[in-house]
Amino acid sequence: MSTSLTAPQRHWLSLIARWFSGPATRVALGLVALMVMLVLLVDLLVGGLIPNQTERARSERRLTLQVVAGQVVYQLQNQGPGQLPQLLAGAMQKHPEIRSAAVAIHDGRSIATAEHAGFWRLAPGATSTLENMRSTLSADGQPWGELQLSFAPVVPTGLLAWLRQPLVLSFVALAALGFAAFHLYLRRAMVYLDPSRVVPDRVRAALDTLTEGVLVLDTDEKVMLANRAFSAMAGDSTALTGHTIDRLQWLMDALQAHGGEAPWRLTLQTNQPQVGQNLRLSTPTGTLHTVMNCSPISDGGNDARGCLVTLSDVTELHERTERLREAMAELEASREEIRRKNEELVVLATRDPLTGCLNRRAFAAEATALIVAATIDGQTLCCVMCDIDHFKRVNDTYGHAGGDVVLQAAAKALGSGLRTGDLLARFGGEEFCILLAGTSLAQAREIAERLRADIEAHLGQALREHQGVRVTMSFGIEQLGVRKSDIDAVIDLADQALYYSKQNGRNRVTAYEDLPQQGA
Ligand code: GH3
Ligand code: MG
Ligand code: MG
Repeated sequence: MSTSLTAPQRHWLSLIARWFSGPATRVALGLVALMVMLVLLVDLLVGGLIPNQTERARSERRLTLQVVAGQVVYQLQNQGPGQLPQLLAGAMQKHPEIRSAAVAIHDGRSIATAEHAGFWRLAPGATSTLENMRSTLSADGQPWGELQLSFAPVVPTGLLAWLRQPLVLSFVALAALGFAAFHLYLRRAMVYLDPSRVVPDRVRAALDTLTEGVLVLDTDEKVMLANRAFSAMAGDSTALTGHTIDRLQWLMDALQAHGGEAPWRLTLQTNQPQVGQNLRLSTPTGTLHTVMNCSPISDGGNDARGCLVTLSDVTELHERTERLREAMAELEASREEIRRKNEELVVLATRDPLTGCLNRRAFAAEATALIVAATIDGQTLCCVMCDIDHFKRVNDTYGHAGGDVVLQAAAKALGSGLRTGDLLARFGGEEFCILLAGTSLAQAREIAERLRADIEAHLGQALREHQGVRVTMSFGIEQLGVRKSDIDAVIDLADQALYYSKQNGRNRVTAYEDLPQQGA
């Protein structure tokens, strides 16, 4: 229905509603009711304050009855009964409360006005009532008839008639005048009682222009003012004015969720501002992200006379920050993905896919770095070449897949027998190259011998489906910088030593210096 109202109509309606809901109006109405009640109470206790309408009417009517009866007797004695109807009609005209009249003579004759039979309800001989009154007519002390008058009811029947009664009219007038007087007086007195009036209108208007929600609290945490922006957040803040702030349940809930003391309380206690409290509010109008600041309203001394609470709506900023944070998280995830992919690429580029050992190219690069470091530290390096014996047979007997399993197991056995600084590379087929850092030839022999024994004992077990398979490896060793310093040349010499191991029964370790032509 309200949608069909025009803007000015709505404006006036809201003005009237505000006027009626104002404290002055409400108190004035209460006082009027109290006043009327007191008048009734005094009348009840003392009496005589409100005139008794019934009694007054009865005596007035009795008087009228006597006057008319006198006129009837006089008329009959002087002019006879001929003029009686006119007399009764005249009496009715003069006294509007008479509804009908009749003169009943004892011999049965009767002279009556219209509708008398309808209004007259008194039985013969019954005493008069307020509405039906009779008076005996006599001549020379002898009764010969009676005058009957019927009157309108004293208590009014319709609402309008009731309202027109002087008593009701006086009460209405008293109530209206009392209300006007009380209201005027209270409007003036309320300036001191209504907390919202403490703040001058121009200050209120200035605060209303702010986009932040503003509350002015007194020392009892009572709300003196809520500006327009705050009202918009709170849905309805008019009911809040004059009440303590903890009435705002959504605000208290948010503070509780945040933990800690209400900032305005701290401000009032310490006379110090409390700034930058982030609050997520579930207000009646929706969810808001706000920043609350509380500043003391100081009396110039050390005490706070009140507190100015501001709520800045930072929902949009918060949402943007959230979006930024999400974008950053996505960026971080994709960076991690790229790093992982790069790592995979590095593995693919530097490692042999079957065994995980370094490939030839990566080995060359790392070996160079290791040799430089060893040269600086004055340490010896040894190169060990090794090759699985009769691997072709393994492939032929257990298939290529079986061969792969043995290759992987061999790489694992070699790798686990080395230290972290050493290098292990697959040089092709079933051939591996090891570079031992900080190792003498004697130590290299020991290491190679240990590896050889370990492989002889365990490598065959890699072929789990076949019991008792024996797979061995042959080794060739050369120390760097003894005959050759170039890594490729040293590898070549170690390879020659390996070839010698192959030639001499396999499953053995040979250093290049063991080769017969060395002695020669
Ligand atoms: P020797 O003791 O003299 O070294 O004999 P061998 O049989 O081990 O040597 P040969 O060079 O004759 O054979 C090597 C075999 O290794 C030939 C080839 O099929 C096999 N081979 C090379 N690379 C792979 C591989 O990646 N997987 C498997 N299963 N076999 C391979
Ligand atoms: Mg071989
Ligand atoms: Mg080979």
